[in-house]
Amino acid sequence: MSAPHAKQGPGLHVLAKPIGSVCDIACDYCYYLEKRGLYPGNEQFKMSDAVLAKYIEQYVESQPTPVVEFVWHGGEPTLLGVDFFRRVVELQKPYREKKEIRNALQTNAISLDDEWCTFFKENDFFIGVSLDGPKDVHDRYRKDRHGNGTFERVMKGVGLLQKHQVEFNALACVGRETAYRPLEVYRFFKESGIRYIQFTPIVEREPDAPTQAIKLWLAGPAALGRPESNTRVTPWSVEPEAYGDFLIAIYEEWVRKDVGGTFVMNFEWALTVWLGEPSPVCIFSKQCGRAVAMEHDGSVFACDHYVYPEYKLGNVLTENLAEMVERSVASGFGPHKEKTLPRYCRDCEVREACWGGCPKHRFTVTPDGEPGLHYLCAGYKKFFRHIRKYLRAMGTLLENDLPASYVMDAVKGPLIIRKE
Ligand code: SF4
Ligand code: SF4
Repeated sequence: MSAPHAKQGPGLHVLAKPIGSVCDIACDYCYYLEKRGLYPGNEQFKMSDAVLAKYIEQYVESQPTPVVEFVWHGGEPTLLGVDFFRRVVELQKPYREKKEIRNALQTNAISLDDEWCTFFKENDFFIGVSLDGPKDVHDRYRKDRHGNGTFERVMKGVGLLQKHQVEFNALACVGRETAYRPLEVYRFFKESGIRYIQFTPIVEREPDAPTQAIKLWLAGPAALGRPESNTRVTPWSVEPEAYGDFLIAIYEEWVRKDVGGTFVMNFEWALTVWLGEPSPVCIFSKQCGRAVAMEHDGSVFACDHYVYPEYKLGNVLTENLAEMVERSVASGFGPHKEKTLPRYCRDCEVREACWGGCPKHRFTVTPDGEPGLHYLCAGYKKFFRHIRKYLRAMGTLLENDLPASYVMDAVKGPLIIRKE
């Protein structure tokens, strides 16, 4: 499972993991498989009916918004079978009179068949498919337990979603090598008829570094004084500037040919912020803390990136979900994101678009030696600086009630990537 960017916005957001970390494949960079260690012994990794009912009740009631979106994540949630999600829909039914209920489910798409897709279509599920790009890109890290690539099986699932006209997006992880093949990856998605794409950079510290980083982060800036001992990343982690170049190359093609036809969520988020709205995702928000994760047994954790015993907030069976989230925010998780922003970020020209990224990956130092800079800073900065001229143009169009896609007429021309 690739790490999602949790949604941000009014109310609270829960990434529910009804099967915990159990998955039928074993991607090299999965950040969640290890969470099985939280439940040693013969734990049944299936959300019970009691937890499910309580969670649905609490989640709906804790939301101030007229629309409530449930996000089913994993592990691989489809391993629970269609009947589990039929029960989800049944339990949600009484609340549909008061609220609009939506469901989104993240999957590797391997188990999908006609029955699944019929169910998704009939119940309006929005599906996220973990798909990194063309076969050799995808199969490099997304392997089954025997070390075999999963590309064909995933594409079969994608074909079924398309056949049944289920709305879905591709969640593509950008690893070290992928970053050097932007247009090939982007065109693959377009040629496969995939119109919604989200790129997630792979940033993974060498073993043990994450826990160390979390402790340092929560201990405050003073404790972040030894970053050089924690900056090693795995060989598959994307290089910072290469990630920026990857996004820029795709943006340059998208802004000439695909605005309004293909939706790259990373670009949509940037436009949202340019238009003066808060970022729809936590990583680029000023503060975070209202996007929690819930394990199969109802345990709630401060964030999907912080599913560690010390960040357990409580359990939906015995505690109030909204109160748990408020407690977490009051304790500093969330506001800490803004408070620990290095001076270098505070003075940054693209600060409003970036806000220093996710604290989990703020493990490098600024040019003047201040700790707590995001690992991808060089890439983020390059990308956000590069697209400003296009955002400005699209903003002006939208302000004048014209479609943003008109920007394509203004920028038609050869694909020349200028050095910033
Ligand atoms: S720490 Fe904050 S920014 Fe990072 S994933 Fe969690 S909620 Fe999002
Ligand atoms: S681009 Fe770099 S300096 Fe600017 S806010 Fe983001 S992480 Fe900080």
